[in-house]
Formats: sequence, structure tokens, C-alpha cells
Amino acid sequence: MELNMAYRSLVLGVARQKWLENLIRTRGWKFASRYVAGNTLEEALAAIEALEAEGIHALVDLLGEMVTGEEQAAGYTAEIVRLTRALGELPYPRWVSVKLTQIGLDLGRELARDNLRQILEAAREVDATVQVDMEDSPRTDATLWVWRTLREEEGYENVGIVLQSYLKRSPEDLRQILHLKPNLRVVKGAYKEPAEVAWQDRRVISEKFLELVKTNLAAGGHTATGSHDDRLLEAVRGWAEAQNVPRSQYEFQFLYGIRRELKRDLARRGYTVRDYLPYGEDWYPYFSRRIAERPENLLFVLRGVLQG
Ligand SMILES: Cc1cc2nc3c(=O)[nH]c(=O)nc-3n(C[C@H](O)[C@H](O)[C@H](O)COP(=O)(O)OP(=O)(O)OC[C@H]3O[C@@H](n4cnc5c(N)ncnc54)[C@H](O)[C@@H]3O)c2cc1C
Repeated sequence: MELNMAYRSLVLGVARQKWLENLIRTRGWKFASRYVAGNTLEEALAAIEALEAEGIHALVDLLGEMVTGEEQAAGYTAEIVRLTRALGELPYPRWVSVKLTQIGLDLGRELARDNLRQILEAAREVDATVQVDMEDSPRTDATLWVWRTLREEEGYENVGIVLQSYLKRSPEDLRQILHLKPNLRVVKGAYKEPAEVAWQDRRVISEKFLELVKTNLAAGGHTATGSHDDRLLEAVRGWAEAQNVPRSQYEFQFLYGIRRELKRDLARRGYTVRDYLPYGEDWYPYFSRRIAERPENLLFVLRGVLQG
């Protein structure tokens, strides 16, 4: 296993320790606030205004995942509907991202489908797009099932999906849905996954990333990159320009708080740039994945947290 994959596995494993979670939850907000726009919807809306002033759009995510009760799933669903309606009041493109385990996937895929349908109805009213995030591999089938049921059987066109290039199954998953010209975000993948299901070599993961992007663009699907890897983004940009893919068909998505100069530069050059903007109180799991992506982040946070 490559060193950086081993680092990520280690961090994601240790992050599950309750004592560490409690320590970071109480003392880590100062660091988490680099990646999280705030605790409330109002703070998220203010952050959207600031991004738009720089020509960057937002893809807003209410933090929360892996819920274990129906009431909690219903509560998050209602809050995402409220978020969607609030976006409808703003004069900007409206994009929302949703994790299905936040709206009940682990309690049954039908429940997640029904809750997502409510969100899609609210999104339709304000002409918003909803992207379904991809979580860890035991949930890939159920996530694709929910997305496909709503997209294909029920005809919702305002719903997008994510595929992870580290998963060995992703090219086949894309092949299965290509006829739908999916609104697709391609990412490398952020979870701890075993070698049986996921590539561990960074070069292979990047090659697969590029393949997924090209395949979806060639089939006419709207395609977003979800990556900060500038060489990879340059490869996508160069290929799309060479193939005369219209700029309206692709976009570059980033995470809030990362690579600010790169996104400003792309936006200035006329590309669509969208920042994944998380807000809410349940920031710990999201934050631990960001730490796992970069060893420097871990040292920085640990030093600060332990010094108090
Ligand atoms: C918009 C968006 C949506 C995403 N949605 C999903 C999803 O639904 N499911 C999923 O599994 N994953 C998702 N991810 C995460 C993704 O899978 C990767 O884990 C993450 O983007 C890191 O990989 P990378 O391609 O950015 O590049 P890397 O090769 O990891 O990094 C390239 C460079 O980017 C910078 N960088 C990367 N991460 C960080 C960080 N945390 N802090 C500071 N700098 C950093 C560094 O300068 C680094 O050198 C999403 C990512 C983005 C940008």
C-alpha cells in the first residue's frame, strides 16, 4: 500500500476513537472553521455572497451523516428543504449536495429515496440542482439505486450523482448509467477502502479519474471534477478544450477553504467554479476526512489542540 494511503487509513481509523472526537469537537473548531462555513444557515448564506463576489458559485451541504433514527432523518430532510428554499431567495445558481446516510439510507433505501424525493420537489420549485454525494463502498449499491430510481423511473432531472475513481467498480457503474447522460461529479474518493475494492496507487486513481471524466463528457453528460489536483484539472481542461466540449458542459468543484488562488484563477478565466460549502454543527466526520487527506493538516491541528 502506498504511504499516503496508509496514512489516510490510519487517520480515519484513529478518528473513530471517542476520546479524540471529544477533544477535537471541543477544541478543534478554530481549525475546522477553515473548511466549514459556519454552524447556521445564515452563516452559510453569508459565505455564498462572499464567494459570488469572486465569481465562484456554491454547492451547499448541510453537515450530518450516518443517522440511525427515522426522526433524525426526517429532521435533516426538513432542514435541507429549508436550505433549498432559502437558496431560492438568492439571485445565484442553486446547488445542494446531500449524503444519503443523512436522510436515512442505513434505515432502508426506500426511506432515503422518499426523503430525497421531498428535497427534489423543493428543488424543482426554485430551479435547483441536487447532487448526491458518494459515501463508503458498502453503500455504493444503495446510493446508486436511490439515485437511479429517482432519475430514471421517476424522471427527476435535477439530481446528480458522484463516482469515485479509486473504486474498481466505477467504470462499470458509469457504463450502466451512461444512457441517462448523468450529471456527474468525479472524485478520487475519501474513505478508508480495502485493496479488494479500491485502487491504492495514486497514479492509477488519477488515470481512472480522467477516464471517467472523458467518458461522461463524450456521452454528453454534465461533468464536474471534485479535486484540488492541479495537474489532473489541467489535463481535464486541456482535453475538453481540444475536443471542443462546450464550457457549459463541465465545471470545476472544490472544497470550501482549499486552493483559493487556483479557483479564483479558473473563475477569472471564464470557467464555472463551484465551491462545496458545508455548514452545520455535525462537522467532525467531514473534518476528519480533510485531515486524512493531508499530513500537514494533522500536525497543525494536533499542535493547536494539545496546546489548548
Ligand atoms: C467538490 C468536492 C466534492 C467531493 N465529494 C466527495 C464525495 O461525494 N465522496 C467522496 O468520497 N469524496 C468526495 N470528495 C473528496 C475527494 O474524494 C478527495 O478525497 C479529495 O478531494 C482529495 O483529493 P484531491 O483530488 O483533491 O487531490 P490530492 O491528490 O489528495 O491533493 C492534491 C492537492 O490538493 C490539496 N489538498 C487536497 N486535500 C487537501 C486538504 N484536505 N487540505 C488542504 N489541501 C488539500 C493539496 O495541496 C494537495 O497537494 C470531494 C471533493 C471535492 C473537491
